Amino acid sequence: MDLKYIGHSAFEIKVGEKSILIDPYVSINPKYDWKKSNIVDIFVTHAHADHLGEAIEISKEKEAPITAIVELASYCGKHGCKTQGINFGGWINYDWGRAVFVPSYHTSSLPDGSYAGMAAGIIFDIEGVRIYHAGDTALTSEMKTIKELYSPNIALLPIGGYYTMDVEHAAVAAKWLGVQTVIPMHYDTFPTIKADLQKFTQLIQAGNTNVAILNPEQL
Ligand code: ZN
Repeated sequence: MDLKYIGHSAFEIKVGEKSILIDPYVSINPKYDWKKSNIVDIFVTHAHADHLGEAIEISKEKEAPITAIVELASYCGKHGCKTQGINFGGWINYDWGRAVFVPSYHTSSLPDGSYAGMAAGIIFDIEGVRIYHAGDTALTSEMKTIKELYSPNIALLPIGGYYTMDVEHAAVAAKWLGVQTVIPMHYDTFPTIKADLQKFTQLIQAGNTNVAILNPEQL
């Protein structure tokens, strides 16, 4: 398995020859060419434009279903995508692994203002490794429950503040989640979400957790 940071909250996970995309706001990174990847599934944590990104276009071109909370999936379906509308708490099986949606503490609405259900985080279970993509979220005690129920190994956490957790709260989140490795996301894209990576690294390492800062320039 290979985890690539495309930028903002967008990631590609490669499992063998297959790729899955999460929150594919891929236009953020001109170096990333989704047409070259064998994308078989797309996940969207919530409907905000910086997370839905180019999901609809990619889904249609690749015939890759979008897995999302049922209201958001229904919107994507109306725009011609194959979809898998799900909800919180149930493992969904795929031929590359499985995934479960967990609550995040955030809002979710579509560009036309329609209701998109609740915002989510997603836990992936792939080849024995559990990766938690937190989506957009404030620090929430839900993360203690996530540790108890799912024991994730790697957490992809928003650190930019303003709309989500900042570096200090993300460090608390890492502790509550009990993960071995944290990968920061959702920072520096806009002026409002500038983050102090050095401070973040110090805070995380003080808790005996590893930080992996992935550079979208080095895909
Ligand atoms: Zn959002």
